[in-house]
Amino acid sequence: MNTAVDAWLAWVPKWEPAAYRARTRLCRRCTGSPVLVASGIPEGTPHQVKHSLVSRVQRIVDRVVDDYTAEHLPMLHAELSGADMWRVAGYDPAAGLDPEYDGLDPDPEPTEAGQPFLFTMAGLAAESQPEPPLPRPPLSQAEKEQLRREIELADLRAADIGNEVCFSLMAHRPRIAAAIDRFVEPQVRAMLDDLSRNLEPPA
Ligand SMILES: [Zn+2]
Repeated sequence: MNTAVDAWLAWVPKWEPAAYRARTRLCRRCTGSPVLVASGIPEGTPHQVKHSLVSRVQRIVDRVVDDYTAEHLPMLHAELSGADMWRVAGYDPAAGLDPEYDGLDPDPEPTEAGQPFLFTMAGLAAESQPEPPLPRPPLSQAEKEQLRREIELADLRAADIGNEVCFSLMAHRPRIAAAIDRFVEPQVRAMLDDLSRNLEPPA
């Protein structure tokens, strides 16, 4: 947790509103995220700044759940490795992204009319995706039940880790608030000032 917050604190000073665009679509990762509540990050903070923190914390949870699955949940582990198998060979636009972009739609939203993108990242990924492996024999009833049980256990583990992580994140609230005050707030204020200056009729 310390490492994740430290990494985020090191990233925040580099944040610039120039790269920031208002999102029209809701972010599935951030909306209602208990991580944001636990972090005490102010509601009005730009999405990218919040997303960057949520993604870093999410990676901690994912890693613990992955390890737990690999160690204790053989069927689910096999399912997930099978699903990964045909992703590794192709181009996955979401692979290896910095946490700031992790979980975001890889393609920018279409901007000005008449300027279509020559190709989209998602389209490229679809083209380079290898043929899926042959379907394997269907699961037996007992296997299905075991898989269902293992998914439940993985969910429970994720919820436990999520709680733990949020609890320990609360200890970092003062550092998080200080970083927002120092690096983000002034830039947002300057941006709003600019905006209102441009809206005022010339004297
Ligand atoms: Zn987000």
